[in-house]
Parts: sequence; structure tokens; C-alpha cells
Amino acid sequence: MRFSRTPAQLPVSITIVGLGSRGIGVLERIITLTSRPEWGARPLSIDLVDPDCDGAGLHDTTQPDYLLLNTVCSQVSLFPEETTVGADVGDQGPTLYAWVRQLGLRLADDGYTLGDQGREIRPDDYLPRRILGAYLTWFLQRTLDRAPAHLNIRLHPATATAVNDTDAGTRTITLDNGTVLRSSYVFLTCGHTPPAAATAPGERHRIRTPYPPAQQFAGIRPEHTVALAGTGLSGMDALAALTLGRGGRYTDRGDYVRSGREPHILLFSRTGLPFRARPTDGRTGAFAPLILTRQTIDRLRAETTGGALCLHADLLPLLCAEMRIAFHRRCGALTGAAAQLATEEALRAAVRTDTLDAELERLDAQHRVEYGTFSPEDILFPTLGDLPDSATYQERYTAALEADLQEAIKGLAASPLKSALEVLRDQRDMIRHAVDFGGLDDISHDVFYGSFTATLNRAVTGPQLDRHGDLLALIRAGVVRVPLGPEPRCDWDARAGSWRLSSTRLTEPHTEHAHWLVHATSGQPDVEATGSTLLNQLRDTGRIRRHRAGTASSRGVDITVGQHPVAQDGHADEQMWILGPLCEGATFYNHYVPSPGGVNRALLDADRTVRAMLDAARHIGEDRLVPAEAAR
Ligand SMILES: Cc1cc2nc3c(=O)[nH]c(=O)nc-3n(C[C@H](O)[C@H](O)[C@H](O)COP(=O)(O)OP(=O)(O)OC[C@H]3O[C@@H](n4cnc5c(N)ncnc54)[C@H](O)[C@@H]3O)c2cc1C
Repeated sequence: MRFSRTPAQLPVSITIVGLGSRGIGVLERIITLTSRPEWGARPLSIDLVDPDCDGAGLHDTTQPDYLLLNTVCSQVSLFPEETTVGADVGDQGPTLYAWVRQLGLRLADDGYTLGDQGREIRPDDYLPRRILGAYLTWFLQRTLDRAPAHLNIRLHPATATAVNDTDAGTRTITLDNGTVLRSSYVFLTCGHTPPAAATAPGERHRIRTPYPPAQQFAGIRPEHTVALAGTGLSGMDALAALTLGRGGRYTDRGDYVRSGREPHILLFSRTGLPFRARPTDGRTGAFAPLILTRQTIDRLRAETTGGALCLHADLLPLLCAEMRIAFHRRCGALTGAAAQLATEEALRAAVRTDTLDAELERLDAQHRVEYGTFSPEDILFPTLGDLPDSATYQERYTAALEADLQEAIKGLAASPLKSALEVLRDQRDMIRHAVDFGGLDDISHDVFYGSFTATLNRAVTGPQLDRHGDLLALIRAGVVRVPLGPEPRCDWDARAGSWRLSSTRLTEPHTEHAHWLVHATSGQPDVEATGSTLLNQLRDTGRIRRHRAGTASSRGVDITVGQHPVAQDGHADEQMWILGPLCEGATFYNHYVPSPGGVNRALLDADRTVRAMLDAARHIGEDRLVPAEAAR
């Protein structure tokens, strides 16, 4: 084969597929880092592919206001900070909170309608998701506006359907409008891709996602009964759409006033346990872990044969100990400044002298009378006990919701329980350090993604507390019932033309019938069963594979530590990067929008992958030898 030298300063081309918060994060990094003097004025072309190309991603700007973010508005910012990206922060600008205040927006009395009426917006308000979409669109435009002249950025309002190799070592990206792009590097930031189409009995009366609710629920009539599977964020969205979205309202006392257009709703879930509501914030500074640290995790890993940790033997004890520490720290703080200091010193001394267990037991005894017994295991894995009948189950479900709501209303500063639970959220990066990129043994990995992530979500990624107040009001008003217990059977009764829902865990069996079965759970990516044409093509051509195909529970894309997809033959494609929800399984908790303060993993991933890409791009054209055929 003959080789020839490629011309120096060959233009570099990049395609970003998917322009939600992740895609914008990548774009921002490219623009900021190629604006630095070190890049010079080397031409670089960037193709941005997304059906809407407005940056909003899944946060549709036309959705109704009652669909709320589950992140408080001061905790949303797309601007990278020094803690995450070092000195190259680029542009600095407002959080979502500061931005809506700049726009003069206010929150109406109903607590969710955003406009020019009502009270001032507070940092801990949960705002409509549509306004996040608008913020993302604004951020995208602001980022594009500061692109240096040597960047040639083109928007393609289309869907990518295939990625293939060229003989020249680049990639082609085929779009559904017939365009074929050619790029040196490809970033896939496609977010939540649709599940594979499914057909099963009763499919015409099954609604597989509540989004967008106006279209999805159009066939549900007021006289219908809806079986709603899922009690988390999507379940609460579905409830809001079927009640507030149909003209219902809540009084100042929190009672629900029917519009007459809402259907009868049967709420249930696999575990039968309610989610815990997000507490009011009242945060008092950054959380400093004493035991769930990188050093402890690294030490445990070093002591383990093969380096893979066990969820129950290694990680869970650390999480539980840190939750107990947080509980007692808060009890100390609530007792007074002297008690707070004494508790902190005693805990730190116990960690130093390896006597933490004894110290935690002493603190358990000290705080029991005033703050109750705290057992992380009982909180994380509650048992429902014997469930004699439907009415008893609904009473227990409602009582658990009410008890948790009281703690959520107290807020993080006043609730030792919520402070302890918050460890699971604050220390997500530490959990990632333990589990990402094959960090757990096979069985633990399966349990982690099979049930433990659901446990974490139920504990700290629950609905906004107002939503649980609403749910209780809907139960009181008889609009919603929770009669089935955990994991009911759902069968399509072809003769009756309805769903038959049968309890499986109640001593006295209970059966209900429903016109509609609505699934309100957030789907995880599944490489082997996806409705995305692009993912199907990537899998069918062997370019991607499932992470840990031997385990049942995690079904996302396999990636390397550098975020490159691993092909079916085990080779990584170093000209392609995948970021965001598609990687769930290889890495943990990829579905969130970036927050300010501390290290943000989404923006860190964007930063490190873009730096790696620019490093590689610097060498294109620098004395690179390519086959003569390809160089022409
Ligand atoms: C209903 C719901 C509510 C949520 N609420 C919150 C919240 O309140 N707070 C929070 O932190 N997180 C929330 N999340 C998590 C969510 O994952 C993140 O907020 C964020 O949207 C993820 O960003 P992303 O860019 O990866 O994906 P997305 O926002 O989904 O953007 C991906 C983009 O890629 C496009 N795309 C996909 N495939 C292709 C293709 N083949 N070709 C071209 N374009 C393509 C899509 O059309 C989309 O525009 C929510 C998730 C859901 C499902």
C-alpha cells in the first residue's frame, strides 16, 4: 500500500447527535476550549443533529405548567464551574433561578403557573419543566453567539439513523432527511431513547408512557377507570395531568375540588411502597462524608480479589454508616451549638480511632428519646408485613405517605431522617466511584441495577412534596384509590374488554377492572430492545453492545472509561463518545440536568471527552500518514 502525507491544518469535523442538556454541554466545551489561544485559528466544523435543534431536549417548552421539575431552580445551571473544568470555565451566567428572576417571572397562587402574576420565585421552588426547556434554548443561543470565527457550526433539524465508517478513517452520519454528514469525530448525546414497539393483548388500552399527557390521555373519558402503574415522578405527572390537567383544583386547605372530568384512578407499583417526597431544602452547607470516601472505597477495592466490590458486604455498610452519621449530626445541631460541636468531634475521633460502631451506638442511645430510633436498613428496605386485606393496605400506604410528608415539610435542617436520606443524593459521586465501569461483582451489579437503584430513587428522588399533599387529597376525595397491594397481576380480559387487576400479596384477594393500563415508570435504555433506528443500526452493525450482557438488569450501552462505545468484538471506537442516559449500567445515574456547586459529573464528562477529542484532533494533519487512496 502507498502512503502520502495529509495536508497540514486539515479541517477537523465533529458531529453531535442529540441536542438536549448533554449535547449542549459538549458544544459549550468545544466552543470554550477552541476559543483558547492554544487552539489557534484552526478551522473546525461542527454539525449539530436533533429533530428540534432548540436545545430543549426532552424538556418541551409547550408542555403544561403542572409538569414540574424535580430539581429546585437554584440547583440548575448549564454554566461549567472551576470545580468541574478547572480554569477554562468560559462563559459565566445565571442559574435557572437567577434567570427567571431576571425575566421578572412570578409564581401564581396554585404553586405552579409561571407568569406575571403571583409571588416572587424562591431559590427552592420547583418550576415547570417547560421553563427549563426555555433556559436550555437561551443557553444554546448564547453559546452559539460566542463561537469563534474559525468554527463553522451547522444545525440539522433531523434524526440520525446510521453511523458508518469511511475508507478515510472518518465516519458518515446518515440523517432521515437524506443528508449524509462526514465527520472525524462523533458524540452521541441522544438522551432517553424510545423503547421498542410492543404488541400484546390489550395494547389499544395500554398507554406505555404518560408523555405528552394531552395526546396520550386523549382517549380516557371521565367514566373510565385507569390503572396507573408507577408511584414515582412520572406517576405523579400522570395524576396531575388527569386531575389538574382536566380542570380540577386544590383549595387553600389542600382539599381537591373535582371538575367532573377526571377518571377513576387505581394507583399501584411493583414494591407497593410509596416514594419519599423531596424535603424543603434548608441545607446548611456542603456535606462532608466521614467514612464513605474515595480512600475507603479504594482501600476496599485493593483488598478485594479482582477489584470488584460487593454491594452488600462493601458498599452498603459504608452508606448505612454515613446515613447514621448524618442523622446524629443533625440531632446534635438541633440540640444546640455545643451539642453540634461535641457530636462532630466525637464522630471524627471515632473514625480516627476505628471505634465508629461504638460511637454510633452511644449516639443512638443519646438521641433515641427525642428523635426516635434510626435504622438505615429498616428505612431503605421496609417490609410491609402481613397485608390482610385491601383496606388495611390502603390505610398503611396513606399513613406512610403522611408520616413522610411531615418530615419533608420540616425540611433538611429540621429533620434528622431526611438529612440521613439525603446522603444517598449528596454522595452520588461516591456511589459512582464504587460502581462505575465494572466496579461491582456480577451479582452485586445485577442487584444494584435490578432493585437497589429503585430503592435509592424511592428514598431520595421522589416527587416534590406538594405532589404528595395532592395525592393524599385525591385519595381523600376518592378520585384515587390504592387497593391492590404490591405487584398486582395485570391481565387483559378480552371478553370484558378491560384490564383485570388481581392482588398477589393480600391475604384476602382483591380484584379490580380498568379500561386503561398506564405505565408511568422511567424506562431505562435497552440496547437489545430499542425503538431508536440509530441504536438498532449501531447494534446490528456490531458498533455497540450491551454492558455486562450476562446480567439481567442493566441493558445500556457498554462504554470505556473514556466514554467510547465498545463494539461487539470488544474494540472501542475512539472517534466516538457516548454520554448521558444511554450509558446507564456502565455508569450510574446519568439522567439529570447539571447543577452548580461542587463537581458536576455531566459537565465533567463533557469536559474530559472534548479535551480528549481536541487532543486527538491536534494530530490530524500533523505528519499523519494515511493510505494514498484515502488521502485523495
Ligand atoms: C419526564 C422526565 C422528567 C425529568 N425531569 C428532570 C428534572 O426535573 N431534573 C433533572 O435533573 N432531570 C430530569 N430528568 C432527567 C433527564 O434525563 C435530564 O434532565 C436531561 O434531559 C438529560 O439530557 P440529555 O441531553 O441526555 O437528554 P434529552 O434531554 O432527552 O435530549 C436528547 C436529545 O437528543 C435527541 N435525539 C435522540 N435520538 C436522536 C437521533 N437519533 N438523532 C438526532 N437527535 C436525537 C432527542 O430528540 C433530544 O432532543 C427527567 C427525565 C424525564 C424522562
